[in-house]
Amino acid sequence: MFKPNLYLDSISQVTPELLKEIGVCAIILDVDNTIRQNNKKEIGFGVLKWVELIKNAGISIVILSNNFNKSVEPIAKILNLPYYGLGFKPFPFGFKKAVKKLKVSDKKIAVIGDQIFTDIVGGNLQGFKTILIKPIKEEKGLFWRIRRKLEKKILNKFK
Ligand SMILES: [Mg+2]
Repeated sequence: MFKPNLYLDSISQVTPELLKEIGVCAIILDVDNTIRQNNKKEIGFGVLKWVELIKNAGISIVILSNNFNKSVEPIAKILNLPYYGLGFKPFPFGFKKAVKKLKVSDKKIAVIGDQIFTDIVGGNLQGFKTILIKPIKEEKGLFWRIRRKLEKKILNKFK
């Protein structure tokens, strides 16, 4: 349940070839710390190019974030992607909405995100492929420290 299909350093390592290899033709994409620093307005380095590359390969993308719509909207607009905020990942509601938009069978969908407890667990529960990306920037605060420590423990088990 906690195990991603792939664990990569950054989003730009997710190539169309790699996706095809694992039978993926649609993506449910996280925002915070996957394609931008948490709550920042600017997208991360290389993300715009990456989105173009993926789209040109005929792979569709929907943004699904647990953040508020108003925080996700500017990023979605820059990237010209459909989006859903308040996704409540790992729960199924948001994923279900995203799937409707993609019109692809569950097995052909990959969830891409930086968090095991929301993106990966949620994606695995829905029967999607899951790709864990290293967070763009380490978060501050006790809540995050505990969370990331637990993630590290889990990831070490899979090594
Ligand atoms: Mg995230």
